Amino acid sequence: MKILVPVKRVVDYNVKVRVKPDQSGVDLANVKMSMNPFCEIAVEEAIRMKEKGLAEEIVAVSIGPAQAQETIRTALAMGADRGIHVAADAPVEPLAVAKILKAIVDEEQPGLVILGKQAIDDDTNATGQMLAALLGWPQAAFASKVEKDGDGLNVTREIDGGLQTIHVALPAIVTTDLRLNEPRYASLPNIMKAKRKPIDAKTPDDYGVDIAPRLEVLKVAEPPKRQAGEKVENVAELVAKLKKAGVL
Ligand code: AMP
Repeated sequence: MKILVPVKRVVDYNVKVRVKPDQSGVDLANVKMSMNPFCEIAVEEAIRMKEKGLAEEIVAVSIGPAQAQETIRTALAMGADRGIHVAADAPVEPLAVAKILKAIVDEEQPGLVILGKQAIDDDTNATGQMLAALLGWPQAAFASKVEKDGDGLNVTREIDGGLQTIHVALPAIVTTDLRLNEPRYASLPNIMKAKRKPIDAKTPDDYGVDIAPRLEVLKVAEPPKRQAGEKVENVAELVAKLKKAGVL
């Protein structure tokens, strides 16, 4: 089985994001960019499946600017086998990403696509679900455990108030939740080896996909500043304040 893993280049999760003064978006100048953390979990899960003998090849795909190739190299250094870079300088919305991924799936015929549950830059949480719909494949979103079961997978999903385990037939779409695994760091020899792994250079036109945006961002604003806290002398004072605030 071949596993396709879409990986997105996003602002590093440690960076304190700044909104541009004209509120048109966030400032990306001189900001550290990295692989989306949920995509790292997706790459790790694919590698573990390969290590268990459940997959033969892992293909990492990224749609984005030239630097997205570095994100693919990170996946290759972790253990993916080859990459596909689809060049796009402006941000690409989830529907267009899903359409490009559908075309890649048609070409590559993977048995499984593992995506992050969401990209931490725009938090849309949509691409995996849209891809499943476009392909007509079963989807297991927010996976916290993936196990092979017969011809399919048993996937445990984190849902409100507990865990749900579902069975999906392959081929399928899985999206990763935070607790699925802890991604490995790439070792230096593997980083060197990754430099020789192939990355195909493609464009959205190669897949016949129009990436023109369908959404218009009206405004991006900082969240309201948190109010300062208050220290209380004793429990009675705390209870009185909570009563006054209508909490008790
Ligand atoms: P989103 O739906 O934008 O929150 O993203 C969910 C997942 O879709 C990400 O974790 C990636 O696996 C995949 N994805 C989204 N955008 C891209 C992109 N430009 N290139 C590759 N994968 C992407």
